[in-house]
This record gives sequence, C-alpha cells and structure tokens, in this order.
Amino acid sequence: MIDRIYNFIGGHFVPPRSDKFIKVYEPATGMIYAEVSNSNSNDIEDAYTSAESAFPSWSKLPIQKRAEFLNRIADGIESRIDEFSEYESRDTGKPIALARSVDIPRAISNFRFFASYGPTFKFEGSLDNKTSQNKIIRSPLGVVGCISPWNLPLYLFTWKIVPALIMGNTVIAKPSEITPFTAYMLGQICKNAFLPKGVLNIIHGSGQLTGNPLVAHPKIKAISFTGGTLTGASIAKKAAPSFKKVSLEMGGKNPAIIFEDCDYKKMLETIVRSSFSNQGQICLCSSRLLIEDSIYEKFKLDFVEKVSDLVIGDPENIDTQFGSISSRSHFKKILNYIEKAKKEGARILSGGNSIKFAGRCKRGWFIEPTVIEGLDNLSVLNQEEIFGPVVTLQSFRSEGMAIKIANEIDYGLSATIWTKDKEKGQRLANKIDAGVIWVNCWMVRDLRTPFGGMKRSGLGREGGEEALKFFTEQKNICTAL
Ligand code: NAD
Repeated sequence: MIDRIYNFIGGHFVPPRSDKFIKVYEPATGMIYAEVSNSNSNDIEDAYTSAESAFPSWSKLPIQKRAEFLNRIADGIESRIDEFSEYESRDTGKPIALARSVDIPRAISNFRFFASYGPTFKFEGSLDNKTSQNKIIRSPLGVVGCISPWNLPLYLFTWKIVPALIMGNTVIAKPSEITPFTAYMLGQICKNAFLPKGVLNIIHGSGQLTGNPLVAHPKIKAISFTGGTLTGASIAKKAAPSFKKVSLEMGGKNPAIIFEDCDYKKMLETIVRSSFSNQGQICLCSSRLLIEDSIYEKFKLDFVEKVSDLVIGDPENIDTQFGSISSRSHFKKILNYIEKAKKEGARILSGGNSIKFAGRCKRGWFIEPTVIEGLDNLSVLNQEEIFGPVVTLQSFRSEGMAIKIANEIDYGLSATIWTKDKEKGQRLANKIDAGVIWVNCWMVRDLRTPFGGMKRSGLGREGGEEALKFFTEQKNICTAL
C-alpha cells in the first residue's frame, strides 16, 4: 500500500473533493512511492473559508505570540531532522548529505529568522508638518497564497510561508506536486505545535488544476511564487484582474566571471559546487562560466578533473555528492539540450550522457555532470535555462567583454565574480544586471538581505524587510493640526 498525501485544511488532513491523485515518484529509482491529492477549485474554496475564519484572531495576536508558534514549529522540524532529510532526498533525488546539511537546516532557520526578525518590523511611522500629522500604518493583507517549486522543496516553501505568517496573514500554500512529502510533514508539525486551525492550509496538486484557481481566487490578496519564468508570466496575467500583489522568483542563467587574479584554489572548489550542487538544479547555480583567456586552458583541465572526482550515486548513501534528476520529464529535457549542444557544434569536455546503475537505482534518472565549450553566447545552450548539470565555458579578454557576455541574456538572477582585486570586483558587480551578486563566494546568505532577480528572473524581492513589507498593506492617516 503506497502513501496517500492529503491536503491540510483547517488543521485536518482531508482528501481532495474530487478524489483525484497524482503519482509521486522516487527519482533515484524511477518507482512510484506515493500519491498526492490533485486538488481543484472546491478544495481551494474550503482552504479559503478556513484561512478567512482564522485571520481575525491570528492577525490580532501579538507578534511575539505568533513568533512563539513559529519557533515551536522550527523545534518540531528539528526534532525530526533526520526523517525530514531522508524524505526530502527521496522526493528530489538530492544527496541525503545535502538535504541534511542545507535544505532542512535552512527551512528551520527560515522559521527562527522571521520569528526573531519579524518583531523588529515597524508597523507604524509618522511624518508631521506645520499643518498636519501623518500616521503611516502597515497591516497584514488577509489570506495570501504561496506557490513553490520542486528543487528545494521545504526550504523554498517555508521561505514564503513564514514571513506571511509572522506578519499576521493566513496562508494557503501549494508545494510542487513533484515533491510534496516534506510539505505534508510540515502539516503534521503544525498540528503538533497547536498552530491555530486554518492559519496555514497546505493544498496539493498540479499547476493547472490547483495552482490556477489559487491564483485566480478573487479574495486572495497576494501570491508569492517561485518557479519557471513561463509559469510566472501566466500567474502575473491570471492575478491581474483581481489586482492582487504578486512576487515572482523565476529562472536564471547565471554567469560566473573568473579572472586570472583570483584565489584559484578557492574559486575552483566553489565553482564545482556552484555548477553541480543539487545536480545543477538550483536557480542560483552557475551555468555560464566566463574565464579570462590567460587561464582558460588551465581552468578547463583543472575543472574537468575536479568534476570527475564528484561521487555520483544513490542519494541515500551518505557519501554521495551528486544524485539524480528530480523528474523523468526534466531528465529528458536536459538530455535534449545536450543533444542540441552537439548539433550546435559544441565540444563535450566531460559527461554528456545519462548514467545506468545496477541495483536499487537501475531505473533512476541520472545524468553525468556535463561541461561544454565552443558555443557562442547567443547559442540556445547559453541563452535558455537548462536547470540541470550542464555548464558551458567561454573565454573573455577584458572586463568590458566579460560584462557584455554576462549581460547579453534575458535573465538576471545572480552572478559570481572571482578576483582578488576588490575594486574590480565592485566595479563589475555594479555593472552586471543581476539581483544577487557574489564576489569570491557563492550561496552565502544573510537572510536580512533582499533576494530576487531582474529581467525575466523576477519581480519584487524576498528576504528580510522586503518579504515582511510584501505581506502588508500600507495606509496613511492624515490629521489636520
Ligand atoms: P514550475 O513553474 O513548473 O512550477 C512551480 C510551481 O508552480 C509548482 O508548484 C507548480 O505546480 C506551480 N504551477 C505550475 N503552473 C502553474 C499555474 N499555471 N498556476 C499556478 N501555479 C502553477 O517550476 P518548477 O519546474 O517546479 O521549478 C523550476 C523552476 O523554478 C526553474 O525555472 C528555476 O529557475 C525556478 N526557481 C527559481 C528560484 C528563484 O528564487 N528565482 C528558486 C528555485 C527555482
């Protein structure tokens, strides 16, 4: 008997009204291990009713009290961290060591961070002049929707939900139908933490059947979305008639700019991680490596050698560094891009094929870490987001050329710059069109800082005060003196 994943509405686990379910696969084995509710507009309506009735008391609760609930949920996840890590790894195909060291700890710190940062938020301000006094207040929006992707399931799900909750909103949240298990477990944790019923409702299902009515719901006040750019565009369109607030975190095609004068050892180690962590399925992964021509040949040899050291295999094994692709359709999409690269005349320096293992993972969806050179920046491979273990190398001769290549793209999520020359690092950072720039590091996050992309990578910012503000409405009360 396989697990059935129900919705969490009004503090209870309930099946979808239609009794329809979607199969959930373990990507490392290609086997079905669960079925998840495929909810429709009736389930969204049930969730809305429950969230709406929870809103008055939740929003009036002192923020410190809301923070106590969030801390209790963080404790609940932490007390089951091994189980959460195991299920996150099973759902996504990511190495268990990665789930245990990054995904689940980060989900816990999302709760702890906003529980301590939220209460520092200024809900009221004032601006006075000779004739009037302006009192500026911020209040929670009401019922809001959060929609998240499959690559960092609990990490990104909680990154949206928690700022909404701390600000006093009630939430309807939809995780990806591909990786629903830890979101389901989060429902159990909320129940055990006695989070008031209806404050957080977790609705499962496909983008079409479940996501659409959530976005189109006339009374839901905001949608915070992370996922693909095309989905983001469709959400923006569907949300427009009800004028809801929309925050969109979308795709990327991030450059890493590597200068001869960098700390070579640190750069090389980090670039292997920034290219292939989570099998390249992180929106912030470096996918276009731009290398100063004086070190291009050396870098190429060293990089390919270092990539060949990655331990590829069953995500369940604690030593595995590189696991499987998260779904069959994504696996096929990545292999198609590699074929396109070959047709475009690319040289495959490393990888380029799917991997067949014996034993438990014999039907799993694995692709070798793939390094490609010889393509123009305007080629399909360098312009479209692949979101997998595929990176391209290009050389540059000058700072100007590096900036031109970095910016010659419709995306603008993140970039990394490698140089010991601090001034040069800042100079380039100022000229690159991306919302998050790392100089001599990658994925270093202070949760107070704004996070998000430019161009087709995003609209709005998450993190810190930006996220808290997004989940509020502002009012100015002007009183004559
Ligand atoms: P996706 O857009 O297919 O799905 C994301 C979520 O949206 C899922 O929950 C899905 O069910 C839902 N959805 C799909 N269609 C919908 C619709 N019409 N209405 C409402 N909801 C809908 O993305 P994905 O394949 O799950 O994730 C991969 C993408 O996410 C990549 O493009 C990646 O770059 C991006 N991503 C961006 C960030 C970021 O912070 N910018 C972080 C992680 C992933």
